[in-house]
Amino acid sequence: MPVNTLQSTVCRQCGKPFDIEAPEAVNVAESPSFKDAVKDGSAFVHRCPHCDAVNLVRFRLLYHDPDEHLMIWLIPEDSFTPEDKSKMEESMKTLWTSLREGLPDYIFRRVEDPGSLIEKVRIFDYGLDDAAIEMCKHVTRMELSQAEKDPAKADALSEVQLRFRSLEGADNELEFVFPLEGAMHSVKAGFNVYEDCRAILGRNPELAPDGPFPLIDTSWTASHFR
Ligand SMILES: [Zn+2]
Repeated sequence: MPVNTLQSTVCRQCGKPFDIEAPEAVNVAESPSFKDAVKDGSAFVHRCPHCDAVNLVRFRLLYHDPDEHLMIWLIPEDSFTPEDKSKMEESMKTLWTSLREGLPDYIFRRVEDPGSLIEKVRIFDYGLDDAAIEMCKHVTRMELSQAEKDPAKADALSEVQLRFRSLEGADNELEFVFPLEGAMHSVKAGFNVYEDCRAILGRNPELAPDGPFPLIDTSWTASHFR
């Protein structure tokens, strides 16, 4: 099992602080059960010792899957102050520079919340390209919004957070889930959409994710596509 350290958090129900035991880094080849716990989200679920409320706890975690040549750093947005940010980016760059020499064909990523880590692990488990998936999400969001007659709902759909869930059926349709009006919904996109996005990335190598632990999410799509 990974080495746990004490990490402090605050209960979302009662507001009292409590400590959880969680690893700061994990090699999932050595701890396959931890990979399962990341994929089903249970690694992040902790009960408050004061009021017993179930909390989704965000903590820093360097996720390493040597079989997939994958390293993803979960650094919750609220785990650092704006003043800490440049220091954090500097240490990320130092680590990445030293790692990539020995691991030249690795994929390095950064995520800011457990949901994004779960999604990335799923994407790479299917052997898919996460940048192409982000482009598919952008296209699918636009299509959902354009198909909606109610202008307020169309607006909401254009901003909605889609999450990749799985490849479905013989045609490998991409299934995405998203929250809207208090419920979860799902939408499918054809595998040809994914292939088109891959082709665009292939023709435009300058779009390829690069640098120390890049953040490939909605903000990445927004900065490259309109
Ligand atoms: Zn509590």
